Amino acid sequence: MTNLRLAISEEEIQECVERLARLIQADYKNQPLLVVGALNGSFVFLSDLIRRMNLPIQVDFIRLSSYDAALKSSGDVRLHHGVRTPVVGKNVLVVEDIVDTGLTAQFIRKYFEEEGAATVSICSLLDKPARRLTSVTVEYVGFEVPDQFLVGYGLDYNQQYRELRDIYSIEGVVDSGGRVTEDI
Ligand code: 5GP
Repeated sequence: MTNLRLAISEEEIQECVERLARLIQADYKNQPLLVVGALNGSFVFLSDLIRRMNLPIQVDFIRLSSYDAALKSSGDVRLHHGVRTPVVGKNVLVVEDIVDTGLTAQFIRKYFEEEGAATVSICSLLDKPARRLTSVTVEYVGFEVPDQFLVGYGLDYNQQYRELRDIYSIEGVVDSGGRVTEDI
């Protein structure tokens, strides 16, 4: 049996999304922005965030390997689908659900730099600094969270719980020892 414990309420999330949207809008002023969501976990956050920003934006998605049946990150980040929107010379804002080890964020930043983006920034709703393995910069962070496994608001456990409006820590699951599955 798994137990969910409320970690961040819907109201707190929405206040935070508003704050992040205002910060991003102020930084980019009226410049065009290519907003790229890292699938799957970021899609709920991204959809709320872009609707609070008054900027000329394009939206695209990137899909990488991640873990959905395990509770540990993989050191082996792989790209399954890049963006279709041209990137050269654009300001790219990568939207992530959570930065844990930071390996995914580091990989994505390098990918867009190599694709010729003018600038690359990362916005993550959640940040778990205790587990960081890289020194990747995350320009916009919603909440710093302790080392717990979180679900809801786009984050899953075995593809479940993404639809929840609040974020919960999940308890009572057996750590499968970092078995990595591909989130495709
Ligand atoms: P990183 O490469 O930073 O270790 O991992 C980032 C990815 O790991 C996130 O996009 C997410 O898919 C997954 N992840 C890390 N921590 C959690 C967590 O607490 N809950 C969920 N559902 N996914 C997590």
